[in-house]
Amino acid sequence: MSLRIVVTVKYVPDATGDRHFADDLTVDRDDVDGLLSELDEYAVEQALQISENSDDDVEITVLTVGPEDAKDALRKALSMGADKAVHVEDDDLHGTDAIGTSLVLAKAIEKAGYDLVISGMSSTDGSMGVVPALLAERLGVPQVTLLSEVAVEDGTVTGRRDGDAASEQLQASLPAVVSVTDQSGEARYPSFKGIMAAKKKPVTSWDLSDLDIDADEVGLENAWTAVDSAAERPARTAGTIVKDEGEGGKQLAEFLAGQKFI
Ligand SMILES: Cc1cc2nc3c(=O)[nH]c(=O)nc-3n(C[C@H](O)[C@H](O)[C@H](O)COP(=O)(O)OP(=O)(O)OC[C@H]3O[C@@H](n4cnc5c(N)ncnc54)[C@H](O)[C@@H]3O)c2cc1C
Repeated sequence: MSLRIVVTVKYVPDATGDRHFADDLTVDRDDVDGLLSELDEYAVEQALQISENSDDDVEITVLTVGPEDAKDALRKALSMGADKAVHVEDDDLHGTDAIGTSLVLAKAIEKAGYDLVISGMSSTDGSMGVVPALLAERLGVPQVTLLSEVAVEDGTVTGRRDGDAASEQLQASLPAVVSVTDQSGEARYPSFKGIMAAKKKPVTSWDLSDLDIDADEVGLENAWTAVDSAAERPARTAGTIVKDEGEGGKQLAEFLAGQKFI
């Protein structure tokens, strides 16, 4: 038996760099460094563990929808151990929202072929946490989201979802979509061997026409959601300094009480 896993991985602006909005209120992706969303590293890790624990022939494809530089995210996932990659890029994708992104991802997943889709719980930039559910709906398959443990056996995916009050043990028949949390297990670092091997792994590029998607189904003009305004956070101001000249403790307590911390 063989198992085809597609892992959706997003290329996101580096949170440690300066991030800005462009004039059309979309995220300015040109002037910032990007990287593989940290939360998607957990999804890649789970795919690799399923492969390592399986007697089946497992093939892991990593998929991203993003600009040219998004190939960096694919290379990182390939160097962790994924087998091949698909990059969907098209100028008409600029400004595509979550609904449009899920359409593009679903068409690419169908074209690539899959038994199991693994996504992150949320991206580290948009943070909507809706794409896995949208994918399951578009693909017409079960979704088992927010898993902190995942396994595949005999055509069934099982997993544990930890809530505040209880932990649920869930299962779905394949094909299915799952999303995994940051509690699912530390993601491995790519080894030197992995980094070298990744250079030779296949990366397929598709545009909208390859996926039979019309330009008027995606893009900023056709988004279901719109950003009305965006304001950058004000720069941090200097904090309050309490000098201890005998009354320091009292002043500190007064400050904390004034801020309603005590
Ligand atoms: C060049 C470009 C411009 C964009 N412009 C806009 C814009 O102007 N307005 C807007 O609302 N959105 C825009 N998007 C889409 C946006 O960045 C998100 O991909 C989309 O809105 C999904 O929201 P999210 O990231 O919060 O997803 P979540 O639901 O938080 O993501 C959950 C999981 O879905 C998967 N996933 C999400 N996005 C992608 C992706 N692109 N590729 C692969 N896997 C993915 C990952 O596994 C992720 O962990 C743009 C995307 C690109 C690539």
